[in-house]
Amino acid sequence: MPLGCHGLVWTGGTSEAQLQHALRHNQEAGFELLEIALLDPHGFDVRAAHRALATSHQHVSASLGLPAAADISSGDPGCLAAGEALLNRAVEIVHDLGGRYLVGVLYSQLRKYSAPATAEGRCQSQDVLRRVAARATQLGVTLALEVVNRYETNVFNTARGALAYLDELGDPSVKVHLDTYHMNIEETDLLTPVLECGDRLGYVHIGESHRGYLGTGSVDFDGFFTALSLIDYRGPITFESFSTAVVNQDLSRNLAIWRNLWFDSDDLAKHAHTFISGQLHARSQTGRY
Ligand code: MN
Repeated sequence: MPLGCHGLVWTGGTSEAQLQHALRHNQEAGFELLEIALLDPHGFDVRAAHRALATSHQHVSASLGLPAAADISSGDPGCLAAGEALLNRAVEIVHDLGGRYLVGVLYSQLRKYSAPATAEGRCQSQDVLRRVAARATQLGVTLALEVVNRYETNVFNTARGALAYLDELGDPSVKVHLDTYHMNIEETDLLTPVLECGDRLGYVHIGESHRGYLGTGSVDFDGFFTALSLIDYRGPITFESFSTAVVNQDLSRNLAIWRNLWFDSDDLAKHAHTFISGQLHARSQTGRY
């Protein structure tokens, strides 16, 4: 299974120089996949990304949360059309860059809502994603919907909620994307949700409870990695961490990154790679991995 690292560990943007920097340091830290924060697909410079990738052996994936004007759960017709166009463009970019995964909050805006999602908004977001998923499947791209905490979406906040949403959507190619940071806030434990997803788990974010160094917070990584081994998970596992040391203005504000959890990206990422590899290695020696 490919081990990856989120681009915001390295840089706040996606210019050619920023991507080159991220790809080089990602490789040096031991990772083989760079997750690009694709927050503005229409403004993303695909040629520049190609030039950066030409000198790298890294794979890429992409993640995003929808902006307000493209919130497909909002019930607003203009937002629905803009969201579908944005998601389709994101799928094309991932395909163009040789990637296989578009993940994150693809179903709503990434923000604290002040009311529950409406039945109409939920249904309309599923209609859009059904069409986008059909296009993604044609291009060999898998969509995985990230389960995030209640302060970042109102559509679903648990693995069970995501599975119910995907049952209604009705396209088995669309997978669940679990993130240990969010699970630690919303789930009863970190093992059961993974078992409930089973082969419908398509993407994983590894984040600590404070989004800093792995092993220094309250996330039950032993339970989580045991669960991954029990379902024989073989998809990407991506380290995600944020600090005011590296800032993308929009994403950092949406995620409420107000303080420094680390200063040295290289040290943080190498530590994370060692931590995740160690968890997987131990289980490979004792169980299925
Ligand atoms: Mn995440």
